[in-house]
Amino acid sequence: MTYFVGAHVSAAGGVDQAPLRAKEIGANAFALFTKNQRQWKAKPLEVKVIADFKRKCAALGFTDQQILPHDSYLINLGHPETEGLEKSRAAFLDEMQRCEQLGIKLLNFHPGSHLNKISTSECLAKIAESINITLDQTQEVVAVIENTAGQGSNLGFEFEQLAEIIDQVEDKSRVGVCIDTCHTFVAGYDLRTQEDCVRTFKQFEEIVGYQYLRAMHLNDAKTDFGSKVDRHDSLGQGKIGIEPFKFIMQNPQFENIPLILETTNPDIWDQEIGLLRSFIQE
Ligand SMILES: [Zn+2]
Ligand SMILES: [Zn+2]
Repeated sequence: MTYFVGAHVSAAGGVDQAPLRAKEIGANAFALFTKNQRQWKAKPLEVKVIADFKRKCAALGFTDQQILPHDSYLINLGHPETEGLEKSRAAFLDEMQRCEQLGIKLLNFHPGSHLNKISTSECLAKIAESINITLDQTQEVVAVIENTAGQGSNLGFEFEQLAEIIDQVEDKSRVGVCIDTCHTFVAGYDLRTQEDCVRTFKQFEEIVGYQYLRAMHLNDAKTDFGSKVDRHDSLGQGKIGIEPFKFIMQNPQFENIPLILETTNPDIWDQEIGLLRSFIQE
């Protein structure tokens, strides 16, 4: 059992550049975009880039348990309108297929938004249907739903909403969740003290369940508790403070899954990784 700690590193110049960038900051896990996250279309991954990515991951010791790609921000798997929904589903399938090509087993995504045109449960049902359709057309890759800050009409900010999606996914072995500490906090689940962490993760355990926990995003928050505004901060420098990160690094429920920093200052990621590791109790 090990804690896999890393950051969302740049894939500028090609996805095969990401593993070394992770290694250089002392990470044993990383996240990346496998295409430009702000565009719908991307050219297919080149055979050479795929081979280089796999070779470098193997050489640097990154297994498929330690890599967590994030999908494009444009995708809305709960889109209320047919055109937007179909475009999103096609793009999500492409993201999944890129993971398959790269030998990656997890794909992290934000569930979706109702855009004030359909109800919450209708939107959650569409998201689950999108996941089912995509899983049917792919193999092995797990759809990892991220909890959100609840900004705008984005869903997935309550543990019950994550559970409602999972309930409607047919292949439960290929659906999971990624819990982002900043999103959790601004959505109204306190994490500021050890007692808060115990209470919040107890709720998570009862409503979703640790069997679905496939990754974590470790971020402090610039914004207030319950504000539903998503602004990340460096660990210990924001409104949450350092306690949840100690809690996570001292709890075996968080071992063997990617623990990914998406904090605001990449220049100190190496220090933040060192800090997280210093919390591990032998
Ligand atoms: Zn996140
Ligand atoms: Zn965020």
